[in-house]
Amino acid sequence: MSELLFRDDAYLKSASARVRAVHERGVELDRTVFYPLGGGQAGDMGAVVRSDGTRIPIIDTRKGEAFDSVVHVPDPSAPRLEPGEELTLEIDWARRYALMRLHTALHVMSCVVVAPVTGGNISPDKARLDFDIDINLLNAEKIERETNALIARAVATETTWITDEELDARPELVKTMSVQPPRGAGRVRLLKIPGIDLQPCGGTHVRNIAEIEGIRVLRIRSEGKRNKRVEIALVGAP
Ligand SMILES: [Zn+2]
Repeated sequence: MSELLFRDDAYLKSASARVRAVHERGVELDRTVFYPLGGGQAGDMGAVVRSDGTRIPIIDTRKGEAFDSVVHVPDPSAPRLEPGEELTLEIDWARRYALMRLHTALHVMSCVVVAPVTGGNISPDKARLDFDIDINLLNAEKIERETNALIARAVATETTWITDEELDARPELVKTMSVQPPRGAGRVRLLKIPGIDLQPCGGTHVRNIAEIEGIRVLRIRSEGKRNKRVEIALVGAP
């Protein structure tokens, strides 16, 4: 288990850490700023810098087998890291910040489209949610307008924790049918956007939804009987 620094501060771009283990999947550290693929959000990329200044690109980040463990995947052509060595970690911040803005945008959009969420994905250039809904009820122009009106409220986001028992008592909090909130530690992390959304989420979010600036709907299409997909991008993104 590694100290997950992004969980308390999603804006941390860099940190020092020590190599704990090196195995065929990648490298585990005592602490990390790299978010591992999960909850639909892509794993971070970036680099780790050795004490001699050598930069080793990190091409992906995944969850490890143990609870709260994180596997950093180095570029395969890079020199092998050694257990015990001290590193400086640097995430690709432009990429992560786009992920944070899009991820938070999905929270807002999930309050505009009122239907069970059956899937979702966030990549640096676009994000999507799948809904169990009649596709005729999905109107791109309306989703865009209403989501952007909520974003314009410029509300600060909050992170809180509740116990597994409290969550069991409030099943309405769980909108996502395909991704159950991470359990196992006796408590579950919630993202709160006051007046807009409250749901379990372990991902990284912006501090204020104004940082999203705005979204546009790229397309709406059917991906199956219970999956009507709404794909979005940030306003100003290519
Ligand atoms: Zn989230």
